Amino acid sequence: MAESDNKPMVVLIDDSVDVHRLLKARLRSEPIEMSAFATGKEGIEFCVKNRPALVLLDLDMPEMDGFAVLRALRSDPATVNTTVVVLSGLSDSQDKVAAFDLGATDYVTKPFDFSELRARVRSALRTQRLMQLLAERAEVDGLTGLANRAAFNRRWAQETSESQRYGRPLSLAVMDIDFFKKINDTYGHPAGDEVIQGFAKVVVAFTRDCDIACRYGGEEFCIIMPETAPEASRIVGERIREAMEATTWARHPEHKVTVSVGIAGINAGTAGLTHEVWLERADKALYTAKHGGRNRVVVDVIESTAPLKMAG
Ligand code: GH3
Ligand code: MG
Ligand code: MG
Repeated sequence: MAESDNKPMVVLIDDSVDVHRLLKARLRSEPIEMSAFATGKEGIEFCVKNRPALVLLDLDMPEMDGFAVLRALRSDPATVNTTVVVLSGLSDSQDKVAAFDLGATDYVTKPFDFSELRARVRSALRTQRLMQLLAERAEVDGLTGLANRAAFNRRWAQETSESQRYGRPLSLAVMDIDFFKKINDTYGHPAGDEVIQGFAKVVVAFTRDCDIACRYGGEEFCIIMPETAPEASRIVGERIREAMEATTWARHPEHKVTVSVGIAGINAGTAGLTHEVWLERADKALYTAKHGGRNRVVVDVIESTAPLKMAG
């Protein structure tokens, strides 16, 4: 993502092509990949699509100034956390305060001291890498705020082992947006991201506090439902499916979005299979839902190999 040859991508937005030339030359020694844009509009478009590691942003530009660009970046889920270093001839402290309040990481005043600029670029990239690492360690998905795949893997191993030990019910739902590629292709990546975020909201709305909702990757989500038998989890899956079908999307009200759901769960007792195989069973149920025509829930009930003996 956002990197070629593993060099972090840096975007320069400045109305002066002289500044483009100057910075490209003076930052040549840095291990970065730089793209330059003369207007805020072009720069934002590029950032939303490519999610650069760092944006160098001029404040004083005709039409859309740097503050407006910053606000636009902050209002799009794709760029809400993008690291921005502001470049400006203005050294008014009011402007600095406004830029920092809009989430700028640093502020460099023109005329540039190039060794200082290089050091500030390196420093901003270090901060960006740390933030990224932190998000991964925090096991949180940046786009939706749900648990990420690493968190899922850890929790899923934990919940299956608990369920097996005590013979308790446990269900896993795997969900995938139907024909999602079409949304990206027809309405653009930001519209796709908005659908992913909308889906996450629906998932959160229909799950309980003890359920663990995750973004497994791309447009695929999972819900671990402890203490939930497969037929009870079907109801959750159905509610999510119905809510998605009923949603009208601001960017494309004419285009509905549906999801398919595969569930594998056990009523009680010992599943006698690994958590990997359990996940595969849920995935297969999802595959069956897709091939059965999508926009549906398919449930696979796992047979217990050693039913719990009732007390007494
Ligand atoms: P199906 O009904 O069979 O699931 O069709 P589909 O088009 O949804 O399936 P496919 O898996 O082929 O396409 C998923 C697409 O999701 C491919 C990829 O470009 C897109 N995608 C993955 N992650 C993201 C993301 O974070 N944002 C956006 N906008 N698109 C993403
Ligand atoms: Mg998919
Ligand atoms: Mg899909």
